[in-house]
Amino acid sequence: MSGQILAYLEDLLMPDAVKVGFVPFSAAPRGVLAVFCDDTLKLGPATAKALGVAASVVKRAAAANQFKGKSGAVLDILAPEGLKVGRLIVLGTGKSASLKDGDFIKFGGKIASKITAGTETVTILAELPSGAMKASQAAGIASGVRMRAYRFDRYKTRNKDGDNAPMRTQFSVAVADVAAARKAFSPENHVVDGVLLARDLVNEPPNVLFPAEFARRATQLRKLGVKVEVLDVKAMTALGMGALLGVSQGSEHDGRMVVMRWNGGKAGEQPVAFIGKGVCFDTGGISIKPAAGMEDMKGDMGGAACVVGLMHALAARKAKVNVIGAIGLVENMPDGNAQRPGDIVTSMSGQTIEIINTDAEGRLVLADVLWYVAKKHKPKFMVDLATLTGAILVALGVEYAGMFSNDDKLAERLTAAGQETGERVWRMPLGPEYDKQIDSQFADMKNTGTRNGGSITAAQFLQRFVDETPWAHLDIAGTAMGVPASDLSRSWGSGYGVRLLNRLGAVNYEAKK
Ligand code: MN
Ligand code: ZN
Repeated sequence: MSGQILAYLEDLLMPDAVKVGFVPFSAAPRGVLAVFCDDTLKLGPATAKALGVAASVVKRAAAANQFKGKSGAVLDILAPEGLKVGRLIVLGTGKSASLKDGDFIKFGGKIASKITAGTETVTILAELPSGAMKASQAAGIASGVRMRAYRFDRYKTRNKDGDNAPMRTQFSVAVADVAAARKAFSPENHVVDGVLLARDLVNEPPNVLFPAEFARRATQLRKLGVKVEVLDVKAMTALGMGALLGVSQGSEHDGRMVVMRWNGGKAGEQPVAFIGKGVCFDTGGISIKPAAGMEDMKGDMGGAACVVGLMHALAARKAKVNVIGAIGLVENMPDGNAQRPGDIVTSMSGQTIEIINTDAEGRLVLADVLWYVAKKHKPKFMVDLATLTGAILVALGVEYAGMFSNDDKLAERLTAAGQETGERVWRMPLGPEYDKQIDSQFADMKNTGTRNGGSITAAQFLQRFVDETPWAHLDIAGTAMGVPASDLSRSWGSGYGVRLLNRLGAVNYEAKK
């Protein structure tokens, strides 16, 4: 790695190439103007005023394009007659009466998806047919713009034109009350920062983001007041973390555990805890994976990336809650010192594990981190995120993360937060019939079950390390990476989970002001 790249990566958060700000309704639109209409093609009063005679152009273009103002539908008009802007985008909202908060972030994303890299300025008139959008809704528009405009292009040095050109667009969201919109956007903006940070970490190549480098980046959260503790191999050996260390022993890059702590709640109040699988690269180890698609295994740290992004979001917006974030960082390699199928390791809990398949490594890493957090911090609950099994993709595709939980209330709250943010979870079963499938002939348990129900036996394995702590496991193998482009993302790493867990905390566990 060249020194130049190192210097470039010094800051945890890369500045966005796009800029998003708020201006008053009265500001003259420049470049591209985006406005909203409902499914009766009605425009708001400020929008009608801004369009002037061009309002009739919208009517004619809508008829010609069979544009009916359905939610998310776009009418694109070049050089509209009677307007100074070069392009007018009309975005349908559908029935305005049925709009939910989550719709606005998608509207912002949809508009950003229509903007090409060369565009200098875009004005979004944040008005519904019924009148000015609320500050929170305008903030949603701004968040959506940033989420969709994100791209990971720091390693592209050539062909910087056309679709590869860096996007340097200034987006101005025109609102009735600029101060109120800025105030509403401030916490949301920090959450978007957290999402983009998680995406950056997932997108980084594995030669750059190995465990020590990942841990170093997590230490930058100290700037936000997060306490960050990094445990190296010596410290983890002293704790008896034989499950995690067994995975990492085959790599030149030593493993790390990072424990982050944000104390925004009352002193001494029991924390909530988030735990992430951070396998910086997963070859499968001695049970090596096929070559095709192995490059995707740089994303096997999506759970850890989410936890770091979440800690950023919570600390930056000064969430009134005590939070632990803990991540296990390893590289799973087939070296001469790598662990073998048949090896038996002793976890920090004292329970022994027979290794059947070295590619079922994520649960080994999590076993020690879950136990450590449960015993050391006695949290109200633990939620772990892991790109754990291919089987969850077979079951749920890329639309839902699999959720497993020993606590109905926590599961219900996660489900609700998923519906509200669009980062959805689907609850899967646990039970003694599944649990007994991981009993071992030689040790307390083995690290794989049979081919059937692979996501469930993986979750059963984790449950053996949470003790009585209320817990949920999110299998994000289908949602954290390689997902199709959407209104909110064109990035390979999705940053899944940051908005979900931020919402879970904000609604249920934070002291109200
Ligand atoms: Mn694996
Ligand atoms: Zn893995």
